[in-house]
Amino acid sequence: MDAAHDDTLATVGILGGMSSESTVQYYRGIDAGINEEWGGHAAGQVLIRSVNFADIEGFIADERWDAAGDYLAAAAGDLEAGGADFVVMATNTMHRVAPAIENALSVPFVHIVDPTAEAIADAGLDTVGVLGTRPVMEGEFYAGRFADHGIDVVVPGADRRQQVHDIIFDELTRGVVTDESRDAYVAAIDELAEAGAEGIVLGCTEIEMLVAQEDVPDTPLFDTTELHVADAVDRSLGAVAS
Ligand code: GLU
Repeated sequence: MDAAHDDTLATVGILGGMSSESTVQYYRGIDAGINEEWGGHAAGQVLIRSVNFADIEGFIADERWDAAGDYLAAAAGDLEAGGADFVVMATNTMHRVAPAIENALSVPFVHIVDPTAEAIADAGLDTVGVLGTRPVMEGEFYAGRFADHGIDVVVPGADRRQQVHDIIFDELTRGVVTDESRDAYVAAIDELAEAGAEGIVLGCTEIEMLVAQEDVPDTPLFDTTELHVADAVDRSLGAVAS
């Protein structure tokens, strides 16, 4: 398709770098989604504002959420100033400070839980297990947003939560993928299914690097990265009213 299409695409602002391993999935996924619709050399209109993940890791470790909110609100503002028509933040964990970001923007902020919850509801499920960082598995901001959609959340026990969290920070955000960690995640998924989960939310934007649907054929997976990206593509194409 020709360049005239550019005028009709909304510009996606990706607040990324949390980590860069998942931001590249967003970038490539948005391009692929636009190309699937339009073919040829068509690709997304994308701005990426990538932050220093060391800052983010520090905010999380020290639970400095107010500082994190200020930091990410400023970075999101850069995207709006650069021309983003809407903003997606390529991490689940930092949605802990979504209200601060939303307050700083006048363009829409697409919360990662919303397209995920819609996919779960479309599948007819109402109880899901969540795997992610400890703030995601333990925080009201995450389970509460699912509850707003009528979906109940179950999470692993304390030891398993710590293991799932550590694998994200020590391995996945550094691009390290091991069979041993995949086995741990599959065990966590089996435990959640045993505890009543009808499906599993991959509630960390790097988990798709580690676990695929074929690893757990009996338990439907809801990949937040894939669902967030698909929503961004639809919005960029104008298929979703902002
Ligand atoms: N990308 C991960 C997530 O989706 C974890 C890294 C972070 O703390 O932002 O939560």
